[in-house]
Amino acid sequence: MKQSTPVGNKASSPTETISANLMGVEMNTKEWTEVLCPLLSLALRLEGEGQYNLAKLARSAVDSLGRQAAYQPEPPTSKQSLLADIDDITRALAGLDMNRDLVEALRRGATALAEGRLPLLSETPHPYVCRTCGYLVIGETEEKCPTCGAWPETFQWFAPIYWLEALDPFAALETLRQTPEKISALLEGLSEYAMTVQPADGGWAVRNIITHLRDAQGVLEYRLDLFQKQENPILESKAVFEWATREEERPPFTREIFESYKETRARIISRLEALPEKGWRRIGYHEEFGVVSIKQQVSYFASHELTHLPQLERLRAQL
Ligand SMILES: [Zn+2]
Repeated sequence: MKQSTPVGNKASSPTETISANLMGVEMNTKEWTEVLCPLLSLALRLEGEGQYNLAKLARSAVDSLGRQAAYQPEPPTSKQSLLADIDDITRALAGLDMNRDLVEALRRGATALAEGRLPLLSETPHPYVCRTCGYLVIGETEEKCPTCGAWPETFQWFAPIYWLEALDPFAALETLRQTPEKISALLEGLSEYAMTVQPADGGWAVRNIITHLRDAQGVLEYRLDLFQKQENPILESKAVFEWATREEERPPFTREIFESYKETRARIISRLEALPEKGWRRIGYHEEFGVVSIKQQVSYFASHELTHLPQLERLRAQL
């Protein structure tokens, strides 16, 4: 069903109607939406002239404005609120004549979320957007852009996580060496009790974060085995974050969990240090993300850990 959006009236442009109607969230859309399209147009024209250093400034401004408008310090993240918002958004997107494949993929992903699992790549394939005209296609394509004739190789691929490409092997190894030391400094002087105190927002305690990092590293070690033993192994998708609050089979003290994490880390580092350049390029098929190499898997793991450090810093500051 097509949602009616008033046209020809600046005060109620489609974007504003959506933000006003959706999600009950106050967003300061008015100031930035009027600049958004001129900025994107400017970036495109600058790129057309080979003025890439100027274009990058315009593109970063677009990204920054959008993220600032959407940012909330403590957003609602319950499954029910996410499902309701996806429902609203899919209807609004259909009303804006968004590509049907994208809308349907969103709906399939929402079904998986409702069932308590992560959507597989087959249900939510990677999207590609024509950098010139904005034509969107779901799943890899070999066709030229039907609107502007751009070649498919020039489309922008939307990776599920930037972490896959964030670190080259040298930087990833350096990060893997440094992160345990940073965590160790953040745990210094904390009692076991302090590490198990749940924050007021009901989120993870320090103990849950350390457990999560250990579990995620366990998955990495298991996958490194698979990569080396099998040709093109299947990497099952794992909801590792759900294990962090399970207390069965855990050593009693958070520091013991951290010690075992450090032991596994040492094993993984020496294993990766011994890997020849060719070894980093071995690939597997990840059920959630598609084809991934050891290099990408390690980059993912090392970057993912960094995202939990601010969480530890906040918890430590509250204690
Ligand atoms: Zn195009």
